[in-house]
Amino acid sequence: MSTAPAALPPTPLADELAGRIARTGPISVAAYMEACLHDPVHGYYRRRNAIGRAGDFITAPEISQAFGELVGLWCAVTWQLMGEPSRIRIVELGPGRGTLMHDALRAVRALPAFRNAIEVQLVETNSVLEALQRATLDNEQVPIRWCSDMDACADGVPAIVVANEFLDTLAITQWVMRDAKWFERCVGIDDGGRLAFVERAPAADFVAPPAIGQRAHDGDVFESRSPAFAALAAKLAAVTPLVAALFVDYGHLAPTLGDTLQAVRAHRYDDPLSAPGEADLTAQVDFAAFTAEVCGRGLVCDGPMTQAEFLGALGIAERASHLMAANPGKAIAIETAIARLMAPGGMGTRFQAVGVRSARLAPLPGFATVDNRAGAP
Ligand code: SAH
Repeated sequence: MSTAPAALPPTPLADELAGRIARTGPISVAAYMEACLHDPVHGYYRRRNAIGRAGDFITAPEISQAFGELVGLWCAVTWQLMGEPSRIRIVELGPGRGTLMHDALRAVRALPAFRNAIEVQLVETNSVLEALQRATLDNEQVPIRWCSDMDACADGVPAIVVANEFLDTLAITQWVMRDAKWFERCVGIDDGGRLAFVERAPAADFVAPPAIGQRAHDGDVFESRSPAFAALAAKLAAVTPLVAALFVDYGHLAPTLGDTLQAVRAHRYDDPLSAPGEADLTAQVDFAAFTAEVCGRGLVCDGPMTQAEFLGALGIAERASHLMAANPGKAIAIETAIARLMAPGGMGTRFQAVGVRSARLAPLPGFATVDNRAGAP
C-alpha cells in the first residue's frame, strides 16, 4: 500500500463533525472513531462493502478458504471440549462478507452431530455487509440469525464466539506527552475550519501504565481501548455460563508507545482525518490490555500466540497439501495464499490469536502447546 494522493473535498461527515466541534469543542479520538465507523447515516461500517479486492482492505478469510475451514474445525473441537452440548451457538462478531462462516460450515459437514447442534448468530452493524452475508449463507442447512449486538443472544445457550479483525475497530483514546505531562489527543478544527488534531488536559483519573510513563518522551503517543475491552468482556461473561471465544487481530503483545490510528481507503493508507466515514479506521490491538480487561469475571485467556503458530497448530500445512492435491490446477495460488497468512514479518506474526473461555473449560484447541505467560518456561 502507498499513501493516498491529493486531498479530496470534505466528506459529509467531516462537515457535520466540524459543525459539532465549532459548537461544543474538540472531541476525543474515541468519539471521532465512533462517528467515522458507526454514525447512523455516514458511518463507514453502516453502509459500505469495505472488504475484498474491490473494497478497501483484504482479510485472512478472503485470502484463503483454509482460514475459515480451520476456524470451523476449531469450533468443532471446542464444542467437544465443552461436553458436546445438544445446542451450541456459534457467534461471529463482524462477519464481513460471510466468507469465514461459509468456509467454517462447509468444513464441519463431515461432523453431523456438531452441525446438527449449531445455531449461528451473526453480529453485524453494516446493512450492506449483512445483505452480502445473507446471500453467501443462503443455502446453509443450519439456523442463522442476525443482530447488531451480542447482547441479543444472552439466553443461556452455550456459545462459541469467533471474531477476525473485529477488535481493531473498537474505539481508542490517545494521549500525547508534552514537557513530561500527558495531554489527551483530540480532534478539533484548525484556522481554515478543517479537522485537525489538538491537545487538552486529560481526564482527572487518567494514569498511564508505569512502564509506559517511564519510557515516554516528548511527542510520544499512548493509546488505550480499555473501556471497549471491558464492555466486550462484560458481554462475553453475560452471554451464557459456558463460553469459548477466538479473537484474531493485528497488534502487539505488550503496551507500547506510538500512534497506530490508521485509515485505509481503496487499499491505500490515508490521513485518518481526511475522509471521515469513507475510509476504514482501525488501530493496533494491545493484547496485554485485552487479556488484562477480559480475564476475571469467570473468564480465562489462552495465548496470545502468533497467527502462524496458531494456524500451524491447527494443521494448516496438512490442509494446504490436501487442497493442493484436490485442485492441482490451483496449487500455486493455494500455496501463495497460505504463505501470505503465515508470512514471518507479515500476517503470520503481525496478527495474533487469543482464546477466551469459561474458567471451568480446559485450554482451547491450538493454544495448549504454547504458554506465553510471563515466567513460563
Ligand atoms: N471478520 C471479517 C470482517 C472484518 S472487518 C473478515 O475477516 O473478513 C470488520 C467487520 O466488523 C465488518 O463486518 C464491520 O461491519 C463489523 N463491525 C464493526 N464494528 C462493529 C460493531 N460494533 N458491531 C458489529 N459489527 C461491527
